[in-house]
Formats: sequence, structure tokens, C-alpha cells
Amino acid sequence: MSREGVTPQSEDFSAWYNELVVQAQLVDRGPVRGTMVIRPYGFRMWELLQADLDRRIKDAGHDNACFPMLIPESYLKREAEHVEGFSPELAVVTHAGGKDLEEPLVVRPTSETVIGEYMAKWIDSHRDLPLLLNQWANVVRWEMRPRMFLRTTEFLWQEGHTAHADEADAMRETMWALDAYATVARELAAMPVVAGEKTPGERFAGAVRTYTIEGMMRDGRALQAGTSHYLGTNFAKAFEIQYQDEAGELTLAHTTSWGMSTRMIGGVIMTHGDDKGLVLPPRLAPYQVVIVPIGRKEQGEQAAAEARRLGAAVRAMGIRVHVDDNRPQLSPGFKFNEWEMRGVPVRIELGKRDLEAGVATVVRRLEVGSGGVTNRAEGQGKEQIPLDKVPELIPGILAEFQSFLLARAEAFREERTAAVDSWDAFAGQVAEGWARALHCGRTECEDAIKADTAATPRVVPAGAPEETGACVKCGEPSAYGKRVIFGRSY
Ligand code: AMP
Repeated sequence: MSREGVTPQSEDFSAWYNELVVQAQLVDRGPVRGTMVIRPYGFRMWELLQADLDRRIKDAGHDNACFPMLIPESYLKREAEHVEGFSPELAVVTHAGGKDLEEPLVVRPTSETVIGEYMAKWIDSHRDLPLLLNQWANVVRWEMRPRMFLRTTEFLWQEGHTAHADEADAMRETMWALDAYATVARELAAMPVVAGEKTPGERFAGAVRTYTIEGMMRDGRALQAGTSHYLGTNFAKAFEIQYQDEAGELTLAHTTSWGMSTRMIGGVIMTHGDDKGLVLPPRLAPYQVVIVPIGRKEQGEQAAAEARRLGAAVRAMGIRVHVDDNRPQLSPGFKFNEWEMRGVPVRIELGKRDLEAGVATVVRRLEVGSGGVTNRAEGQGKEQIPLDKVPELIPGILAEFQSFLLARAEAFREERTAAVDSWDAFAGQVAEGWARALHCGRTECEDAIKADTAATPRVVPAGAPEETGACVKCGEPSAYGKRVIFGRSY
């Protein structure tokens, strides 16, 4: 068996992705269309992301809770835009316990409504604010074009839901969540995302303002990797979330919601992967290091014993390590290919010659000199390190690999992003990557751009320089006071 037949990324990005997620044992197709079984290797990645994000959420004063997954249909109907936006994607239970239900129940696509109902119950006075809740849950959206991790019918996420006394406090919260997402994406997933606001046409159903983080995948497309919404008083009105202010007046609360999902795992795969398969950032890698003992019979036994000893020493440094010592039927070459395909950042080979010289052969998944990002010479992907030095050196090697991936992804995004001012240049640019362009802000114009090029406005980047002029498509005066990032997306 060779590399188990994953189509090279450079040949067909889509086939590469679909085959790789299964071959790398991240997921299996679920029995119902659009669903997935997350296997232990994929679930560990999610757990690592979840643990970090959960800590941030708690440190910022939020408490986790858990609301029911079945929501009375009438709740969704209370906020007109919300129900209109979500209707096509709802799974509805109409029959249970052997008979038709009096009121249909919606399987939660998101929980603003049911949480709104309880916020109304729990909030009386300004002293009850802000109310900062989060839930880790599965949600269901009947997606028309499902894809593993990126857009599944059922997915895992966290959804933050908060209520505040006024707009200023709610906006601070909205931006806090956006910033937390950008940090997690950069620091854990090594995804250099662009944060900013969505245009009105791309807003969450029921939101006043939607903010997003967008990453560029290796085929030049954008991925919305997390969103944070300022909901104004829309849900407060629908669910009567009100409080007595200091003067004793009954006042509507301002609410927010924000979510990051298992889509992030798809983002990691498409940000870093290559022809050989996955490339996992160490901070999200289930196995940061795999040790492969080489040899047969007695010599193999000796290598395996040494591999286990080294494994324990590396694990003692707080590193996630796997010793591949019980598959004697497979050749070392096969194992090397497999761990490369599964994206393990560092492989350690222990063969006869290594043991005689008292060294280990340490191989990085990528040469940390390539791509013009660092000054290190080519060929340093593989090096011999004295056995007793390996445990203390591994953390540094992993940290360097993590930074390398971020820098490489950032350089790639910059290469594939350009400011464009003519329609011809725009169409060429979004075929390869992202276009920074002035836009009139009209939804009809966005629709025309989408019809012509399949590109949509991804984000109005926070902190971009001020600029005004003519819309790249229709020539009308630009909106937003700055360039908008357009691209094709997942
Ligand atoms: P939303 O509630 O629509 O703002 O979604 C919050 C986040 O969940 C989005 O930014 C996506 O990253 C993610 N997401 C939305 N739909 C799906 C889906 N079908 N599968 C996986 N992730 C999703």
C-alpha cells in the first residue's frame, strides 16, 4: 500500500479534502446525509481547541449552562427575521411518544430563543446585568451542500449568550468574543485570520451587527471561522428581556451571541495541509510526536524498548507522544508515510545506527526553512539529536514549528491578496484569492458580484486604512470608508 490513495492537493483540492478527512481517521460519514462521526483522532483536536476556548470564556466571567435541544416552534416565530433566516434549515419534530404533537418542536439550530426566554425570567434589576452565559452543545441545521467539518447537518460548537444594560456594554462583549476567536485561531490553529464586520447582506438572522474572523485556505478561498453578533434589543423585545434601571424604569436589555464550531478543524486542515496530507499545528495535534522504532527480531525489540523509554521521557515534558511499537507487520516506510499523511508535527526514528551512535533521528513534518519565512537552511527538516537531549529539545522544536506554520500561512495569504480597482482585475483576483476593493454597500450589487464571480464580501476589516472612491462593480460611491475583502468561500 502506498499513501492510501489520497488525491494530491495540487491536483484536486476538493477531492484531496474529502478523501483526507476519512483516510487520516478524523471522521467517517454518518448514516444520515450531511452528518459525520468524529473519530478519536479528530475529536482530540476538538477537545484541545475546546479546552483553551472554554478557559478563556470562563476567565472573562462567563458561566456554562445547558439548555434543552428541543425548542417549541412558537419561540422561533417570535423574532421575525430570525425565523425567516433559519426556516429553510430547520429539522422539526412533529411526532413523538406514538402520536402527533400539539406543537411542533424544533431541533435547535442555535439557542437565542430558548435562552432568551430564560434570561427574561432571571433578569429583574440592573444588578442582574450583565448576564454572561455559554453553552457547549450540538446543533442541527439542514444544510443543502454539506461537507465534513465545514458544513455538517449536526455540528458541535459553543454558543455564548449575554445580556447587558446598554449598547456600549453589549458591543464591548461582542468585540471581546471576536478577539477571543481571533486569538484562538492564531495561537492554536496557526490561522492568521482577518477580523472585522460583515456587510448587511451577510448578517446573522436577527442581528444588528455581525462580526467575523475569516481565514484563507490553501486554494485561496475564505472560511468564516467564528462569528460574534450584537443583537441590539431585537431578542429582548421578542422575549421581554427587561430590567429595572437605577431610576426604577423598565428598560430593554441589549443582547449578544457568538459561536465557534467544529468547522475550525476543517479550517486547520485546509490552512496547512499539503500533497502528502495533513499538517497539524502542534497545539492542536493529538500526537505532537510519534516515535517509530526500526528493525526486526532482537534488534527491533531493543529499538522498541528504547522507543518506549524515550516516549516516557518526552511525555514527562508535557508532550503528547505516541510510540508506534506494535505493528511489526508494517514497514518503517509505510509508517513514516502514514504519520506524515496524518499530520504529526515531529517523527522520531530509532534504528540500529541511531542506537549505536546514541542518537535519535528527528524529522519535522515540514522543513522549517522552506517558504522564505525563516533564515534556516534547507535540509534541517531531519536531524540527529543525542538521545538524552531529545526530551528537553522537543518543546522548542514544536514551538518553532507552530510559529513557522502561522508565518507561512500569513505569507501565503499576503501573496494571494491584492487591492484592485477595476472589474477585470477583481474577477481575476477572486479566482486566485482575495480582492481588497471599494464597494457601494448595496445588497443588489453584492448579488451581482456573486452571480458573476461566485465571490462574496467576506469582511470589512477592522483597522484597515480609510479610503473612499467608486464601487469596483457599479461605480457608485463606496460605503464603509475602507476597502472590503471579497473572495470565494466555503
Ligand atoms: P452562526 O450562528 O450562524 O453565526 O454560526 C456560528 C459559527 O458556526 C459560524 O461562524 C461557523 O463557523 C459555524 N457554523 C455555522 N454553520 C455550520 C455548519 N453547518 N457546520 C459547521 N459549522 C457551522
